[in-house]
Amino acid sequence: MATNFQTREEQTTFSSELKLIPRWSVAAALLAFVIMQYLFWVVFPHERRHPGPPFGLRLYFALSWGALASLYMLMVGYISNDSPRRGMSVRIWMVICLVMPGGIGAVLYFLLRQPIISLCPACGTRVQSEYHFCPQCAYQVSASCGNCYRSVRITDLYCVHCGHDLASDNRPARLHVFRS
Ligand SMILES: [Zn+2]
Ligand SMILES: [Zn+2]
Repeated sequence: MATNFQTREEQTTFSSELKLIPRWSVAAALLAFVIMQYLFWVVFPHERRHPGPPFGLRLYFALSWGALASLYMLMVGYISNDSPRRGMSVRIWMVICLVMPGGIGAVLYFLLRQPIISLCPACGTRVQSEYHFCPQCAYQVSASCGNCYRSVRITDLYCVHCGHDLASDNRPARLHVFRS
């Protein structure tokens, strides 16, 4: 079996990933940015006895910390929708992300996250995104070449690895997956 086959996970586009970010997390990101600005422009200058850093530097810190806080909120929103489709507990990862300081929780998540899991249309077994066939009932869950058995895209007419004519397969691999 080839090691360089293309998984469905790799085919997910950036824009489809962005759709996983829920509205509440966009709102939380805006709020986090506003809170950061409030801290840097209102709260901190009052607490300081001596004159603070020059305006340019303060602007730089306020904007960069604001952007960082917003990004973190978006990341937490993304994780809340990304973890269920990988069979990972949303609650546990939300807690880890909120408890771990400095974004370590989110970094841990991306290090440890599992492949995307879907259900076999025939028997309901959990199958990982890189599987070609269901391990329980041999139902074909993703398109693969009938000659070299590597992954192909369902729109391909010929295998990009061996040049096999995909339409000549007895079971048309590239179309089979559409039916599910
Ligand atoms: Zn199955
Ligand atoms: Zn092939």
